Amino acid sequence: MMKMVYTSENQFLVCNAKNLIEAQGIGTFLKNEFAQGAVGETSAFDAWPEVWIFSDSDYEQALNIIETSLSRKNAAEWVCENCSEHNDSSFDICWNCQKDNA
Ligand SMILES: [Zn+2]
Repeated sequence: MMKMVYTSENQFLVCNAKNLIEAQGIGTFLKNEFAQGAVGETSAFDAWPEVWIFSDSDYEQALNIIETSLSRKNAAEWVCENCSEHNDSSFDICWNCQKDNA
């Protein structure tokens, strides 16, 4: 059985997820890859691109790969807009100038 493991309106994120899963040796394919941005189409009819796997025995692993990837991204440090200092993700305000992380 084939299963969908990830979808997003952001095609970059979808391609990124596909690459991460394939890097672990899991076969994937995209659906709706070309559904967005077609000339003359309105966004109301756009379907989000989807990442599918060929074998549902890989489903849990594929989801783990995506979750790990997303949580790593959320944990990334941020740069203060005000003073350009780098801040750890656990800080909500800049350690240097106390500006909110916008
Ligand atoms: Zn700052």
